[in-house]
Amino acid sequence: MTKRTDQGQPARTPMSDLDVQTVTQGIPHLVWVADASGAAQYFDPSAMELTGTSMADLVGDGWLDLVHPEDLELVTSQWAAALASGKPYEAEYRVRDRHGCYRRMQDRAQPVVEGGGVVRWIGTWTDVEHDRLLRDQLEQAEHTASAALALADAFERSAPIAFGFIDTEFRLLRFNDTLARLNDLTPDRDRGRTVAEVVPELWAQFAPRYQAVLESGEEITAMETIPAADHEGAASIWFSKYFPVRVDDAIVGIGIVGIDVTEARQAEQFRSVVMDTMAEGLYALDAHGRITFWNESASRLLGWTEDELRGRPAHGAIHYLRADGSAFPEGECPLRTVRTEGRTIRVNDDVFLRKDGTPVPVAYSASPLREGSGPIEGVVVVFRDSAAESAARDRAQKELDALHWLGRVRDALDEDRLVLYAQPILPLQGGCVSEELLVRLVTPSGEVVPPGMFLPVAERFGLIADVDRWVVGQAVQRAGAGHRVEVNISAWTMANVDLVPLVERHLLETGADPADIVFEITETALMQDLEAGRRFATGLRALGCGLALDDFGTGFASFTYLKTMPFSYLKIDIEFVRDLADNPANRHVVEAIVSLAKGFGQQTIAEGVEDERSLVILRECGVDFAQGYHLGLPAPLLP
Ligand code: C2E
Ligand code: MG
Ligand code: MG
Repeated sequence: MTKRTDQGQPARTPMSDLDVQTVTQGIPHLVWVADASGAAQYFDPSAMELTGTSMADLVGDGWLDLVHPEDLELVTSQWAAALASGKPYEAEYRVRDRHGCYRRMQDRAQPVVEGGGVVRWIGTWTDVEHDRLLRDQLEQAEHTASAALALADAFERSAPIAFGFIDTEFRLLRFNDTLARLNDLTPDRDRGRTVAEVVPELWAQFAPRYQAVLESGEEITAMETIPAADHEGAASIWFSKYFPVRVDDAIVGIGIVGIDVTEARQAEQFRSVVMDTMAEGLYALDAHGRITFWNESASRLLGWTEDELRGRPAHGAIHYLRADGSAFPEGECPLRTVRTEGRTIRVNDDVFLRKDGTPVPVAYSASPLREGSGPIEGVVVVFRDSAAESAARDRAQKELDALHWLGRVRDALDEDRLVLYAQPILPLQGGCVSEELLVRLVTPSGEVVPPGMFLPVAERFGLIADVDRWVVGQAVQRAGAGHRVEVNISAWTMANVDLVPLVERHLLETGADPADIVFEITETALMQDLEAGRRFATGLRALGCGLALDDFGTGFASFTYLKTMPFSYLKIDIEFVRDLADNPANRHVVEAIVSLAKGFGQQTIAEGVEDERSLVILRECGVDFAQGYHLGLPAPLLP
């Protein structure tokens, strides 16, 4: 991992500051999950975004590769101590981000305890660099610069890269060996002096670039000629980027990265090492708007190869339609203004066209290419697929929203804010009234939240078992008070926790009749782990409880397990019941389910009865029980 970062990241850092807008900026906490042994199993997507890695790089102990070497011992010992004690863990250390810079993170984790033991850890990384930056802006900028400098040095071996960092007064604060050689600088003598003092003959060439970066706040790309330092040898040609270094919103200096492209051999290296490792598409145009350069990512994003496009006018090949599908005349193309006015532009909502003519929504920046202060010779365009970007951002946001529920469920369990609602289940062919217990979460402000909002995330992180245990306790108590009840058990609990002893204990404590409690499991849960389902079902039936197959008809229930599992009830899913009166096809489904259930000695319950006409049909079809808004809404259980 270290190797890949060393080679990939420094090239990317200066190439585009689109890259700098990481999704993580608005997201304070990155969530991770580890198993009981401490091996990381999951990081939320923002962590990958922040560090420029993949899930595979981070899981296990891969994330330790990103920890600053000086912090590593502390982190591993604190984490080992937490694992040994099973107590919450907290540590602060530096983590290498996608740009090769270290960010100070606060890491906090909570053990998830189950059956007396820790089954997993749920933790968050919080970026605390932000606060630190506010305290000492310039120090941080220098720190960033030295990290980039170190990476540029590591890069030296494959291609000459000049790197420098100047402050807003144009004092040279950092530079690497290549830049020193190029301009005949000596660190001891020249650090802290202004560019005008150290290279007076080049000041006129550089000054306008620095000014432009400070005034526009945007990066500049330039092709420039630098005379030999001894003024004897041949001048070299450099492809350079000048980019603002920001701390929060303030520009604190200018970063300079240049690559020697004088020789074809070096140009080739430059191309493969830098251009083709970029995540963004990059192409260059000559003064007439014809493509002269096209990198690997551009090929990946748009399907054209460089050979197919070289020499062709870019507008006609990839930019001839607007986002609404209408024709885009070349005369109105914003890239022209880059050529004519010589300034960098940034466009967030354009489309480029793939080779097959399909549009790709893009965000791009385009900068003029010029040698020294000579005429504009072309344009460099850096672009990325903005749909993929916003999809990633949406995913990250969704993930985060979901994870917020994790904490809320934990709090609700701890603060006794889960409540049960009951919905009546009425007999259609004779028998007893029963009720389905449905869980809700009450927020501290008293809002009642339906299970669809919080159960999925609780299930994903195993917290559902605590919810199910609580519900089971309440249900048995309710049965002990003389009610017939049905309770839902989630797939995760069924597969991972043995609930049978708990039910047995509650039955003994309350004296409830086991026949008054029906456990509902869904087809989808059974499909995930049939063996666990079978154990669960036989255990409960052995206690004398009932068992229902919930949401029947929505999965792909195999008749084999219908036959071999001891269900007492099939619950016909809402989908087939809600519009029964107006949908004759559903009547066939209901009739088929009833006859199937009869064949297996099971009774049927129709869920989601919303009108009287459906109820009549259900009775005619021989359905045994019915439940739905027409018969009774779920209502809070009175103590
Ligand atoms: P489910 O077990 O299939 O529960 C039936 C759902 O349909 C309930 O939604 C109920 O309020 C709703 N419903 C009842 N009658 C009608 C009707 O006439 N029309 C329509 N459109 N809907 C009706 P709810 O309470 O939001 O629960 C949703 C799901 O959450 C449940 O589906 C169940 O899978 C799960 N769930 C609820 N409570 C618990 C619980 O305590 N533990 C576990 N593990 N899961 C639960
Ligand atoms: Mg149910
Ligand atoms: Mg159901």
